[in-house]
Amino acid sequence: MKNLESLIKTYYDFPKKGIAFKDILGIIQDTEVFKELILKMSSNSVIQRSEAIISIEARGFIFGSAISLQTSKPMLVARKPGKLPGELIQESYFLEYGKSYLSIQKEAIQKFSSYAIVDDLLATGGTIDCVANLIKKSGKEVCGSITVVELLELNGRSRLNFPVETIISI
Ligand code: AMP
Repeated sequence: MKNLESLIKTYYDFPKKGIAFKDILGIIQDTEVFKELILKMSSNSVIQRSEAIISIEARGFIFGSAISLQTSKPMLVARKPGKLPGELIQESYFLEYGKSYLSIQKEAIQKFSSYAIVDDLLATGGTIDCVANLIKKSGKEVCGSITVVELLELNGRSRLNFPVETIISI
């Protein structure tokens, strides 16, 4: 997509040494590019085949909620520890920089049968794999995942056994 890559800035050694952090926030400061991106993500087959979307805290929320409005597909959130009230389903995962777990509200995930996972970036694939496991644990279908960016050298898609879509690979 024209201009998209130029809006992604790399910060070296953030949030810790050895990480080349891709800052995608410049995209939402260019509304024409952002709009084009959301239309492209929304028309992707992974989104189209799903009944609902699960977006991942925090930058996944930006893209997930815009896709939800564009497609009229409901959105759920997968959140980091201590953020969600009510009865939760949890799953741990390893990040490029640390270990954590993600939670989904049990009542919310029971409402729909199939889900598309939305996030800003695919690195090792651990985060998306974690959300996919939450969906499977709940007896629901994973239609696939879609991110704005994929970091090719980490080959995160190799651990994911469903359609893995991305807008740009770098
Ligand atoms: P992973 O589980 O390794 O695929 O990491 C993906 C998640 O961590 C996404 O939610 C990203 O926002 C974040 N992330 C991991 N690595 C980076 C990176 N190099 N630059 C920006 N965000 C990253």
